[in-house]
Amino acid sequence: MTSTPLPATDHPAGPPAPAPRASSPLATAHSQLADAVAVLGYDEGQHQMLATPRREIHVAVPLGRDDGSTVLFHGFRVQHNISRGPGKGGLRYAPGVDIDEVRALAMWMTWKCGIVDLPYGGAKGGIAIDPRQYSTAELERVTRRYTSEIMPMIGPDTDVMAPDMGTDEQTMAWVMDTYSVNRGYTIPAVVTGKPLAVGGSRGRGTATSAGIVHVTAAALAEAGVPLTDITVAVQGFGKVGSHAAAIFASRGATVVAVSDQYGGLRNDAGLDMQRLFAHVAATGSVVGFDDADPLSNDELLALDVDVLVPAAVEGVLDEEAASRVRARWVVEGANGPTTTDGDRVLARHGVTVVPDVLANAGGVVVSYFEWVQANQTYWWSEQEIADKLEHRMTSSFADVSALAKREGLSLRDAALVIGVERTAEAHRIRGLYP
Ligand code: GLU
Repeated sequence: MTSTPLPATDHPAGPPAPAPRASSPLATAHSQLADAVAVLGYDEGQHQMLATPRREIHVAVPLGRDDGSTVLFHGFRVQHNISRGPGKGGLRYAPGVDIDEVRALAMWMTWKCGIVDLPYGGAKGGIAIDPRQYSTAELERVTRRYTSEIMPMIGPDTDVMAPDMGTDEQTMAWVMDTYSVNRGYTIPAVVTGKPLAVGGSRGRGTATSAGIVHVTAAALAEAGVPLTDITVAVQGFGKVGSHAAAIFASRGATVVAVSDQYGGLRNDAGLDMQRLFAHVAATGSVVGFDDADPLSNDELLALDVDVLVPAAVEGVLDEEAASRVRARWVVEGANGPTTTDGDRVLARHGVTVVPDVLANAGGVVVSYFEWVQANQTYWWSEQEIADKLEHRMTSSFADVSALAKREGLSLRDAALVIGVERTAEAHRIRGLYP
């Protein structure tokens, strides 16, 4: 990368935005980047370039409701970095989504793809909508309109979407269909996390969760602790948390607590995952499961377990919550569950944090496998994908852990240093145009 500082006004994203709220995801992401930049010794121009999204778009998404009324949503897509390849990252539907949250999530995708060495940059999209309040037909119309509005920015070689909070494989099928119909032919590689029937990959649905368990096993192995000896608490019982809990249990760990947005459960002898999944399928929540005691989300974070997996939303482990954590390992299933202050408290208390950008990278790793398969129109077996995922996750953990030990860094700082350095290296080799 050049050592000439970039004047801020030369950047297409314009002058720097006002500073984000102290505990916001973007503030957390900026502070993590600043730590990595300090270790790497980059100058302020390089720092600004890494901190600023390459491109972003804000679109109005009007919906004609089933009852004939109209409602307007705000949608965003941010390409934080595309120097190592297409932008890559999920599409989030949640009521509080705003441009700063999407910027933070896009930045984390850049580092994540760098850490597990995928030929991608980082991107993220979002619509400020509560998907539970709308019918399937309404969500389809919202998704198609949003896709149509951001069409110029996405594509299999430019920016590849995937599911995130509030979206799923059906959402991706609508995005793929809208994009393909407008181009005039089927383009499966424009999204990942699609249904198998339209070019999805085996193993994608559980990939993030499987990756969490692989890195947990690798972290435990360094302390000589087998998975079969540990107790686990998982916050969040969505696409990531539910499968993580099930995979932990299937590999012999004792999952003693889980929770969702409605509340949590505890059974020190271990929750029966099969019965719990049946209960959730029937009622829509873990709450009310008969073979366990009720527990609040706050209580879950403070349980005396070996491994705590926050797999719900951002910012749950702030300074106060972190001071109550009694787990020895925190493995971040969600993006950004620990604030900067929370991180400091956990470090002071000797808790090992396996950071989000490494711990939950299994999803984007299998997204990459899906994209490769779509590009070559040749499909791999479930076993091939499982083996390649395990190898990628454990070797990435080993790289991060080795750097952390060599340089005396936390796993988060070491992971960020690897992701940031790979990105900056691409900038340096490519040079600045013109
Ligand atoms: N939304 C997931 C994440 O945050 C997956 C992204 C992808 O597969 O592109 O990592």
